[in-house]
Amino acid sequence: MATRPRKTPSKPQAFPHPHHDHSRCTANALRTAETVCEKHGARLTEIRRRVLEAVWASHAPIGAYDILAELNTDGGKIAPMAVYRALDFLMEHGLVHRLASLNAFIGCALASERHTAHFLICRSCKSATEMDGTAVTRAVKKTLSEHGFVPENEIIEIQGLCAHCHKESA
Ligand SMILES: [Zn+2]
Ligand SMILES: [Zn+2]
Ligand SMILES: [Zn+2]
Repeated sequence: MATRPRKTPSKPQAFPHPHHDHSRCTANALRTAETVCEKHGARLTEIRRRVLEAVWASHAPIGAYDILAELNTDGGKIAPMAVYRALDFLMEHGLVHRLASLNAFIGCALASERHTAHFLICRSCKSATEMDGTAVTRAVKKTLSEHGFVPENEIIEIQGLCAHCHKESA
């Protein structure tokens, strides 16, 4: 059976437009982080907030050492351990996800809801987006239980070309 790509993706808002106003994404993410931390009785300390800001600098996943370099551009002396601890905190509270395939981190746009993360990663513009994985999660759960398999990392990562880059390359 031929599987032709559908003309209009079911979630057209999935990949942000290359020229969108990203300051709104960042502002939203920080607001959500504050709400989530308050709900969990946790504190968004200065370093945690700065790490979250560095992760949200763009929609491209960022590695821990790039975050560290970013935070220390002004000659600061933040230690790698402090960044790792902040990342652990942010992951624990669902504000950031780790993409194993890239060994990098990405901000969560659905941080206020419980969810299993699934990512589409564009190899051209390097941005990654979290897709609505409800149907995928259901199918994966069914398969796992059929095999009696206990998952430890359920994040699904799919690499390819986003709609914007695909259009440009066509
Ligand atoms: Zn954005
Ligand atoms: Zn998420
Ligand atoms: Zn792209």
